[in-house]
Amino acid sequence: MNTPYHISMTGEALGPYFSPVALKQIIAANLGQDSLGYQFAHDHFHFDNNSFVAGYAYVETCRQNTILAIRAGQVALARAEFGRLTHTVQDFYAHTNYTALWRELHPGATPEQIDPLFESCMTDPRLHSGRLYYPLEILYFVPFLREWVLPRLPKDSHAQMNKDEPSCPDFEYARSAATHRTRVEWLRLAESLTDTEKTAFTGQANSRTQFPSNPEKV
Ligand SMILES: [Zn+2]
Repeated sequence: MNTPYHISMTGEALGPYFSPVALKQIIAANLGQDSLGYQFAHDHFHFDNNSFVAGYAYVETCRQNTILAIRAGQVALARAEFGRLTHTVQDFYAHTNYTALWRELHPGATPEQIDPLFESCMTDPRLHSGRLYYPLEILYFVPFLREWVLPRLPKDSHAQMNKDEPSCPDFEYARSAATHRTRVEWLRLAESLTDTEKTAFTGQANSRTQFPSNPEKV
């Protein structure tokens, strides 16, 4: 997704749990995943080109690295690892057809109602992500060429499928799912942490915050 949405989604999802400093570190690492050097040969950072196996493995690696860094007392590193995780899970909804699969099963449902981990959609054999058809795909990123190039790219191209900004179909569903998922990832991580670790990682005491035992219900 485009930068402003990565920032706002992460802030909405994690703001209640993290101090401003901690949130800033998480967002900085999230945005770092879209730096130019990571736009090529890093499909798994963005779930591009059907990189599901590598994408899921990357998320798991980030999750484990976050826990290890917290336990080593390296909270800045832990927040960076978690920030990278949030970017990849957010891009999942922007770059795959997950929202279309979910909406097919829930006609009439609003964006706010979307379940980011609906089992039958996650395992649907039709689940796929946008392929990058270079060199034509590059032209999609040039604003005044976008209209010309779009009809010339296949339906399964990144250009046709992405929900990176509000003019794209299903953007609000992708944005909502990505925000929910970001919160679920934090709550899932929190289950592995002691209260002391949670406080160190979030930069604030969350004594009044509930950590539900079943994050899926959030
Ligand atoms: Zn990305």
